[in-house]
Amino acid sequence: MATVILIACICFLFGAVIGSFLAVCSFRIPMGKYEPTRPGVKQLDKPVSLTKPARSFCPECEHPLEWWQLIPIVSWCALRGRCAHCGAPVSFRYVIIELLTASLAVLCFLRLGPTPEALALFIFMCLLVVITFIDLDYMIIPDVITYPATFAGLMIGLVNYFTRQPLGGLLGFPFVRSPFDSLMGLLMGPGMLLSVWWLYFKIRKREGLGLGDVKLLAMVGATFGAECAWFTIFAGSLTGAFIGLATLLIRRDALSTYIPFGPYLALGTTLFLFQAHEMLFALLGQPSTITWWIRGIS
Ligand SMILES: [Zn+2]
Repeated sequence: MATVILIACICFLFGAVIGSFLAVCSFRIPMGKYEPTRPGVKQLDKPVSLTKPARSFCPECEHPLEWWQLIPIVSWCALRGRCAHCGAPVSFRYVIIELLTASLAVLCFLRLGPTPEALALFIFMCLLVVITFIDLDYMIIPDVITYPATFAGLMIGLVNYFTRQPLGGLLGFPFVRSPFDSLMGLLMGPGMLLSVWWLYFKIRKREGLGLGDVKLLAMVGATFGAECAWFTIFAGSLTGAFIGLATLLIRRDALSTYIPFGPYLALGTTLFLFQAHEMLFALLGQPSTITWWIRGIS
């Protein structure tokens, strides 16, 4: 048990460092390429890329950060959320992304143990984190993430098929086992999402989904199969509708504002991969509770 806690702590630290990098990714990837849809998203005059400039900098005064200001979570707290050079407030979202990524790293380890699957799942989770935060600011899911990830999903199916043994291929659960699984997920996911798109269009007479959402689902389906894609749409739509209705109750004008769907889809996938539904069934005492309940009324 002590070893498990120790490794979980190492995973947390590792995840926090990666999270710090993901925050930079979500800031730099869309910068200058797209127009932000959320007010207050910082825009720079100079072009930036993931590698240029190599050092992280304050978006306000563009002063490069010292090494100790790069320590995730701690540095933000030590500086009380302000830039050490110009005193401009530093967004709390950096801390959120770092904590989120750190927690996901721990979850991957606890769920799958110290295995290649856990590492691969964590990498996939990282992509979802970047997608979520870009979608929140820009209502865009960049192709530069979804295309390679879909390709990687197909490759996992192929490699798993050719390395298959009685105990499974190179990457076991929750990854696709064959190119067929991968293709099914790739087709089922976007196919179903297009029906949701059509339904929304019929009801609301306008587009409720972007093509980016469809591509996100393609990458989920190709990597984890049709069941995961199906669950992602179901759980994503459900949480999206729930949060949407809640916002509507608070703000009446929210009906005319667009809500990015990517974060909900990412949440749906995460719930499936960590088998939240099975945990729920276990808590409810298995589906038998429901059948007992139905028998009770007949
Ligand atoms: Zn500054």
